[in-house]
Amino acid sequence: MKNITVIGAGTMGNGIAHTFAQFGYKVNLVDLSQESLERGIATITKNLDRMLAKEKISEYDKTSTLNNITTYTQLEEGAKTADLVVEAASENENIKLDIFKTLDKVCPENCILSTNTSSIPITKIAAVTQRPDRVIGMHFMNPVPIMKLVEIIRGYNTSNETNDKVVAMAKNLKKVPTEVNDYPGFVANRILMPMINEAIETLYTGVAGVEEIDTVMKLGMAHPMGPLQLADFI
Ligand code: NAD
Repeated sequence: MKNITVIGAGTMGNGIAHTFAQFGYKVNLVDLSQESLERGIATITKNLDRMLAKEKISEYDKTSTLNNITTYTQLEEGAKTADLVVEAASENENIKLDIFKTLDKVCPENCILSTNTSSIPITKIAAVTQRPDRVIGMHFMNPVPIMKLVEIIRGYNTSNETNDKVVAMAKNLKKVPTEVNDYPGFVANRILMPMINEAIETLYTGVAGVEEIDTVMKLGMAHPMGPLQLADFI
């Protein structure tokens, strides 16, 4: 799989495009407007500059990463040569179902369609296509160029071949793919969100203050940041 189409140039989409491009893949980045695409490319450039300043990449790496990305406002154009699509458009079921219906029509037959959704069932998304065996969840974490985890979520009809190809692809990006099943919130958000809700409830009930709650979880549970600070980032 050489040609990657990333849909959505927002927080996750620009990070996903950045990561694939940095590892030498040709990326077509699609969003609704030229302005969103420009914002996405500006963020990628800023993040590459930061990596360059820390000597994690060379000037050549920065230029070739940016050269590997082409932008599109038309989904049909941006997806027609894809080997793998990673959909990272807004978390809205209707938007995603429409995108997958279009992808199924315009993408090559062997193309794998993946989604970065945090909460919409993979099986439901796959069901609007004629290729549910080639639909899968690729749930990257924010910020994508830095975070190692990718939850790989199999829908009811996802084939072993699709799963294996996507797992191998995540490893090519130097990520750690972790295979999970298609249940609400998958694993990451199923556990994280109740914890954050409970931290808020703990504050609300007056059990402890913000600093204290975060300190207990940082020093007591070895979390790198407390749940309330993490909630602010999210
Ligand atoms: P975002 O709002 O930053 O970006 C979404 C982008 O999608 C926007 O630029 C928007 O213009 C674009 N878009 C909307 N409809 C489109 C369409 N039909 N075609 C093309 N582009 C379209 O959102 P985000 O935080 O990047 O989230 C994207 C996806 O990633 C969601 O499914 C979300 O649940 C998931 N996710 C987010 C995080 C996070 O921490 N932000 C983490 C993991 C997964």
